[in-house]
Amino acid sequence: MSLVIPEFNLQSFNTLAVPCIAAWYISVSDEIELKKAIEFAKEKSLKLLVLGGGSNVILPEYFDGLAIHVRTQGISIISQTENEVVLGVAAGENWHDFVMWCLTNNFYGLENLALIPGTVGAAPIQNIGAYGVEVKDFIAEVKVIERQSLLPITFVNEACQFDYRESIFKSENLDKYIVTSVVFKLSKVAAVNITYPALINAINDMFGQGHISTPLDVADAVIAVRESKLPNPQDIPNVGSFFKNPIVERRDYERLVVVHPKMPHFPAKNGAVKLAAGWLIDQAGWRGRALNGAAVHEKQALVLTNPQRKSAETVLRLAQEIVIDVHKKFGVMLEAEPRTYS
Ligand code: FAD
Ligand code: NAP
Repeated sequence: MSLVIPEFNLQSFNTLAVPCIAAWYISVSDEIELKKAIEFAKEKSLKLLVLGGGSNVILPEYFDGLAIHVRTQGISIISQTENEVVLGVAAGENWHDFVMWCLTNNFYGLENLALIPGTVGAAPIQNIGAYGVEVKDFIAEVKVIERQSLLPITFVNEACQFDYRESIFKSENLDKYIVTSVVFKLSKVAAVNITYPALINAINDMFGQGHISTPLDVADAVIAVRESKLPNPQDIPNVGSFFKNPIVERRDYERLVVVHPKMPHFPAKNGAVKLAAGWLIDQAGWRGRALNGAAVHEKQALVLTNPQRKSAETVLRLAQEIVIDVHKKFGVMLEAEPRTYS
């Protein structure tokens, strides 16, 4: 088994760059190592922190357990027809590299999800999404190891209970499984999804009006918008959107829109309405503001940054102030998207 390291510094393994010491740390590169790591934790009665790219977690100053860093690699073609391909991808593969690998091989569907940080294994956890595409539409199966029994289990798409930034792995089955690989079904027929205004504008700017875009053009445009708007965590630590977009009842939306006629809103399931959390935070006056060193990003108020690499507590205090203020001003309760560990 690879080395279990005591008192390991995780500051460079989380994109918010909060200082965090894990009592124990192990990097696993295959399923045998993964099982041995889980057994080690069981023997010592340690709690687990399963870590991919660390881009959606808020870590404590001391994690009194075992951090398992999933670094398994491998992409294989399971089957293909003239129009479709089925791929098995190890959990530790880098998400963006996988998206670009698909495009190089003319496998389409994931291009709107280019440049999302993190690993393939974390993608189903919150059903990653961007620019009108959610990964759930391309996942056939999620393969996991059950932490208690160490048995392998396959979840077909419907069993994952995917929803808006949600899945069974984040809700009722939280901490029961470790994802070992994801099976994707992708198209070999190029078709693009260009519905978000920001993406339409970027494509027009880059290729000119009337241009017929390829999936690679879409990926290039997504990368360009993201690079122009989102802080690169290596320069300015962050976890992307700090809050989920709130989904409110239609009657709450109707109450709000009378006072705020320009408020962005989008249809959600069962007649509910999705609001833009970034807009609410901006309107509440938080864009560009800082508190004790943690800050609200100037170009996108939904992103909280940690330029001084302060502790989780500092960032969470800023987040709490924002939640209280947005609730006071709009009556809408914001919910954090990244997972906070203690
Ligand atoms: P981690 O942060 O390491 O883990 C996240 C959660 O998943 C943790 O609870 C962890 O325990 C669990 N987990 C990780 N791997 C496994 C595994 N193998 N088995 C079981 N559980 C596991 N998200 C979006 O949806 N859309 C975006 O457009 C987007 N843009 C972002 C932009 C920036 C700049 C940043 C910093 C983040 C962004 N995110 C976005 C959030 C984040 O990148 C995604 O949620 C990503 O999938 C997290 O992957 P990760 O490997 O870093 O997960
Ligand atoms: P944006 O384009 O400025 O849009 C603002 C918000 O409006 C987004 O949150 C988006 O919701 C919503 N929206 C815009 N057009 C829409 C449409 N046609 N239909 C439905 N909803 C629409 O957003 P942005 O902040 O620059 O981010 C661009 C995309 O990348 C978004 O999809 C966003 O979710 C994703 N992103 C996610 C993270 C993260 O950490 N989760 C970080 C950065 C970017 P949705 O968020 O529901 O798409």
